[in-house]
Amino acid sequence: MRVYDIIKKKRDGFELTKEELSFIVKGATDNSIPDYQLSAFLMAVYFKGMTERETLDFTLEIASSGAKIDGSGVKGIKVDKHSTGGVGDKTSLIISPVVSALGLKVLKMSGRGLGHTGGTVDKLCSISGFNAELSLEKFVEVCNKTGLSIIGQTENLAPADKIFYALRDVTATVDSIPLIASSIMGKKLTAGDDVIVLDVKTGDGAFMKSTLDAETLAKVMVEIGKGAGKKISAVITDMSQPLGYNVGNALEVKEAIDLLKGKVKNDLYEVCKFLSAEILYLSGYGEFEDCLNAFDECILSGKAYDKFKEFVTEQGGDLTCFENGNYLAKYSRLVVASKSGYITKLNAEKVGIASLYLGAGRNSKEDKIDYQAGIVLNKKVGDRVENGEVLCTLYASDNGLFDRASEEFLSGVEILDKLPIKKNAIIKTIR
Ligand code: URA
Repeated sequence: MRVYDIIKKKRDGFELTKEELSFIVKGATDNSIPDYQLSAFLMAVYFKGMTERETLDFTLEIASSGAKIDGSGVKGIKVDKHSTGGVGDKTSLIISPVVSALGLKVLKMSGRGLGHTGGTVDKLCSISGFNAELSLEKFVEVCNKTGLSIIGQTENLAPADKIFYALRDVTATVDSIPLIASSIMGKKLTAGDDVIVLDVKTGDGAFMKSTLDAETLAKVMVEIGKGAGKKISAVITDMSQPLGYNVGNALEVKEAIDLLKGKVKNDLYEVCKFLSAEILYLSGYGEFEDCLNAFDECILSGKAYDKFKEFVTEQGGDLTCFENGNYLAKYSRLVVASKSGYITKLNAEKVGIASLYLGAGRNSKEDKIDYQAGIVLNKKVGDRVENGEVLCTLYASDNGLFDRASEEFLSGVEILDKLPIKKNAIIKTIR
């Protein structure tokens, strides 16, 4: 078999066999296929897509490209939530401690930032000392002890995805339904969870811009999960504007902490509440309404924040800087409105790219992240703004980064005289 022929076959729109897909995944894993051929393969898939059968075979190959977590070592119902990626999406930092405090076991393997979107592991690594690279034994041990453990993708779990993921990030091949589905589900099937809730984002800041594409992606992933014997559902949520008010790693941890402490009630709260309830419901906690109420009670009682602290401490993290306010980058700049009216658009992708320009994400797979960089929004869609009023504050460790970021941010803001039609944060559930 030759990689060249497989690339050509896909480029010309033909269906690949299980053996051909296996050849690509094995070649990625053992480094026998160079990055340029893998990139060409990914681009061919981007343009020609994959059939359902190909997507399933590709996913199963990715899932078996390395070790699998033996979840049987964790007592209780093991759950996970995974997002297809968004801007300001810190939901995992909130949902995980909530459902864990309510008795479920969260055994979670998360990704790093991809394209203009952030990643849970990068956010957690902005906490001084936090170790996202536990051995698989320690991962299971921490989960048994605290009810919650989150790690990054280790070398030996779905290693093929790690290679594809990094290449896709820098070759404009992220927003492809089969590539996203196989990436997410390839990882999820290694993790040994019983219940999986997928948060499929749609809108300007999501990889799936249209609700129809988001629904297709959701259905593909739910079917793969069901086929593997998982209790699984997908919730389609809005990502036309950033979720919550903070974008950037440490800034997002801070907003998550504030929400867990009961200080935040916004779209972020609504989405976290709904997704938590979905996880609880699939796990047999009770009627959906009871599951929604359980979220509120868990936050109000302080149990969710206590669980977050316990888990962070167990993985070596120190939250002091978030308590004393020392989590912000050295320099800041205000971005102001140039006219009065209502905010009718706050393009999440542009906000994500502006944040990338400030240093909060990667332009190439070797780039280092500035954990303290990012954006704090003052206004969101539907808010009234006056000429000269602050729209957001940019944070960076280098004063020279502000002009480009500010320009990008402003190119995504629309201010009109009329109030926009309100979009729902939760769009649809697919069980
Ligand atoms: N998250 C993943 O794990 N993979 C993708 O391709 C997109 C989001």
